[in-house]
Amino acid sequence: MNRLHVDWTACDGRGLCAELLPELLVEDEWGYPAPRGEMSVPPALEPAARQAVDRCPALALKLTRVSAGRAPGSS
Ligand code: SF4
Repeated sequence: MNRLHVDWTACDGRGLCAELLPELLVEDEWGYPAPRGEMSVPPALEPAARQAVDRCPALALKLTRVSAGRAPGSS
């Protein structure tokens, strides 16, 4: 499974990703995307997630592979 990562230093807060991925992101009051949860991308949302990555004008989004059975950050 992939996980969506936002580079907050690059994001310019136009909110496009929150429009494309409302299941994972909500736009905050300043237009920046706020995660709804841990940002794991279920298979059904992969196409929308890839579209959000491709269309981010600031190149601030990327998908990273998460090993099955391990939570991100666990040791
Ligand atoms: S599309 Fe990119 S620049 Fe726009 S809010 Fe999302 S992460 Fe930030």
